Amino acid sequence: MQFNELELIEPLKKALIQEGYTDPTPIQAQAIPFVLQGRDCLGIAQTGTGKTAAFALPILQSLASQSTVKRSLRPISALVLAPTRELAIQIEESFKVYGKNLNLKSIAIFGGVGQKPQTTALALGIDILVATPGRLLDLIGQKHIKLNQVKHFVLDEADMMLDMGMIHDVRRIIDLLPHVRQNLLFSATMPKEIANLSASILNDPVKVSVTPAATTVDTISQSVYFVAKDNKVSLLIKLLKDIKMESVLIFSRTKHGADKIVKALSHANIQALAIHGNKSQNNRQMALNAFKTRQVKILVATDIAARGLDIDELSHVLIYDQPEVAETYVHRIGRTGRAGLGGVAISFCDPEEYVYFKGVQKLIDKKIPVVKDHPFAITIDENAVVKVAPKTNHRPKRNPSAHPWDRQAKAKKQRPSNFNTRKPKA
Ligand code: AMP
Repeated sequence: MQFNELELIEPLKKALIQEGYTDPTPIQAQAIPFVLQGRDCLGIAQTGTGKTAAFALPILQSLASQSTVKRSLRPISALVLAPTRELAIQIEESFKVYGKNLNLKSIAIFGGVGQKPQTTALALGIDILVATPGRLLDLIGQKHIKLNQVKHFVLDEADMMLDMGMIHDVRRIIDLLPHVRQNLLFSATMPKEIANLSASILNDPVKVSVTPAATTVDTISQSVYFVAKDNKVSLLIKLLKDIKMESVLIFSRTKHGADKIVKALSHANIQALAIHGNKSQNNRQMALNAFKTRQVKILVATDIAARGLDIDELSHVLIYDQPEVAETYVHRIGRTGRAGLGGVAISFCDPEEYVYFKGVQKLIDKKIPVVKDHPFAITIDENAVVKVAPKTNHRPKRNPSAHPWDRQAKAKKQRPSNFNTRKPKA
């Protein structure tokens, strides 16, 4: 299928061509025709599947007809809720890219930064608002935002919101929306709370699913270095000097650990930046931009800060600390080898972490090759008992196929038998 078959208006088609998109991803092909008709949608998908365009394109198309009205008179017509500041920024940037040939205005609002630039932009008139729940409620409380004219509501990464304790805020926001509206809910997994929330807000939704399989991406070359905890920094420095890495995302278990790695690298004259929850929003954004634009090749991150980030062509992922929950490994290495590109995932494992590493191998059902030829090599007792990692809410595993949107079984398509009250879009 091609975008031409999706009945998108010319300004959107033009933007997609300018972006180099030719074919819609499966979630786009499945969702866009129905969302264009005004249907509610329940999408089981994670970042990397092209889900942002699946909701952004139909919303932009719906709002395009309003863009002749003076901006200051236009109310907020579309609201997208996202769990983190980085995701909010990323989604809003996508709206800008896809909507570049339309006269629509979008902004992202999130906490951790001064509110003045956000309230100033809001006062000028906004069509599409992408927000994290806390700051949104804050600005609603201060009467900077009214949601009573919202026609399209998107709840993105709903399970992550649940993990982060935001569902109560989300429900408060939903209570402020008009009753007649289009609802689009996306979640990587469907825990009971999210299923309940979907059932309570979605009206006869079309269901689309691009659930990846429970294995690691085949195009990623994986290896592990057994190393004593105290030698991890020295090994890291050696590898960064010896191996050519275009861009490497290093995963640290803790925020403090991430800062320590950056400091140690700096002492070795290797420039790196850290991204984690204790950093100010400006600092996080600056680090991410520097990494994305290749001004800095090394980014050290904690899991929560790295989740969902769309970083093009990341060549290496380095797992400095073994994750306690095995599925996190699959999620971490899925940061590389995206969109069919090859990638390299290197793990460090000290004796205390070996139980977790065994859990990872068991999960992915694969033996990760051990690199023995390095100055800090140690042997680890392979018969160490596998301790079962605590069960927590986690993201699903990434998928094995070469191309992220070739992976899923076709979701069951539903006929648009019972449309919402709103008319199908032209
Ligand atoms: P998302 O899952 O929305 O975060 O998208 C993941 C990445 O895929 C982003 O870099 C998008 O720009 C890119 N992308 C989305 N849709 C397409 C498409 N149809 N063709 C090529 N790239 C796409």
